[in-house]
This record gives sequence, C-alpha cells and structure tokens, in this order.
Amino acid sequence: MKPYYDFEKIKYSTDGPTFEKAVDIHEVGRVQGVSENAVDHSVHATVLGSKPYRVFVSLHHYDEGNCECYLGQRDILCKHMVALAIYAVMNGKSIPKEDKELPGFPVCSGRKGEINENELKKFKKAVTSAMTYIKPYNGPSKIWFAYQNSLMEGCNRLTPLVSKLPVSFQTATLLVNMLLRLERKICNGVDDSDGTVGGFMQQTVDVLLKYVEVDPNCVEAFKPLVGLETCFGFEEPLVRILDEMD
Ligand SMILES: [Zn+2]
Repeated sequence: MKPYYDFEKIKYSTDGPTFEKAVDIHEVGRVQGVSENAVDHSVHATVLGSKPYRVFVSLHHYDEGNCECYLGQRDILCKHMVALAIYAVMNGKSIPKEDKELPGFPVCSGRKGEINENELKKFKKAVTSAMTYIKPYNGPSKIWFAYQNSLMEGCNRLTPLVSKLPVSFQTATLLVNMLLRLERKICNGVDDSDGTVGGFMQQTVDVLLKYVEVDPNCVEAFKPLVGLETCFGFEEPLVRILDEMD
C-alpha cells in the first residue's frame, strides 16, 4: 500500500535538522527489514542508530508511530521515524539530489525576466495551496505545536516558489500581492507568536529589495503599499526605497 503522504509533505513539515539526518539514515541504507502491517496501515522496520531501533510509522500520517530511541519514547518525532517514512514514500529508491536540499529561506534568482501565462497560473495555484497551511488558530492548546508546524509547512512550501521566479515588475507584483495576503492572514486570526510567517515575510521583503538592484523598474510594484497601515510594518523598507528612487 502506498502512503497517503508524499516526499514533499515530509520535507516541508519536518524541522530542518531532523529531515537532514533522516535523509542520511535513509541514503546509507540504515532502514532495514521493512514490512507492512495491512491491518493498521503502518510500516515497520529496524533502523540502525547508535543501536538498532524498532520503529513504525502510520501510512496515513508520517508523524504518527513509535521508535525505541530516547526521543521516540518521549513522543517526539525522531530521525528514525522520518527515515522510515521516507523509505515508505521512496519505495526503497534513493532520493534525487535536488530533493534533499532544505527549502531554507527565499532568495532572489538574480535572473531578469517574466513568467508566461501558464507559469503564472501554476504559480498562483501553488501559492493558494501553500496558503491553506497558514490558517487561523482556534485552539485547543494541545494542538499548538501541530499548528506552528502547519505555519512552517506553509512558509516552506512558499519558499521555492519565490526563489524560482525571474526578476521583473510582473514578478515583483506577484510577491507584493503574496505579502499582502499573508499580512491579511496575520491580522485575521493567524497566531504567529513564533514569528514563522513574519520572518518569511521579512525575507521576502529582502528578496524584493534585491529585485530593485537587478531591475529598477520593480520599484513600481511597491506603489500599492504606500499609505497602508499594516500589522507590523513589513512594507516600510519597500516604501522607503520607492520614496528614495522617485
Ligand atoms: Zn528514534
């Protein structure tokens, strides 16, 4: 049976260090003796850590399962469970190099250009889909960590979308609109106490400042931000540069 999640799900919703260690464990073949339990829809294996651990994960939710290691015994998602979940989605195959890289933070591609209508449609659809992970917090407090994780997953999914864009007035406008959407979410019930979304927005602002260095016309895309009252003033550096260049 195939898992209900995919590699992207694991990559974007696991914290970076755990994901990287899990990838290493998977790639050197330390996930062994994998078997499936058709009754409770889970996969079981022995994962070789500092000693061999018996591990299982659900095929429905990759972060549900158990491991005999110190973290696993404390109900914390450990690298062994993530490695086994990776094994389940990769079906034993190795992970392509580009997929191993962490999303990191958004960067400016440095390449001038626009995207065509088809790419634009794809971009908008992917942004909307990533935005669904950045949702209002309605409690209870026991879902707090899962909730923060969901915000991280949303930002992680947006990151490669931003970094892949070429630089132009057109794409700068797309990023400004994305920032305004995130801003509305933060003002309307998204509890960003950990600063995940705010941090992502500031990094995207930095990307836009780089855009202006590559193509000064991009500054025109910042005009809708003038005179706006935002929750935490993310737009200030953009309005300032617009002011200086006008
Ligand atoms: Zn473990």
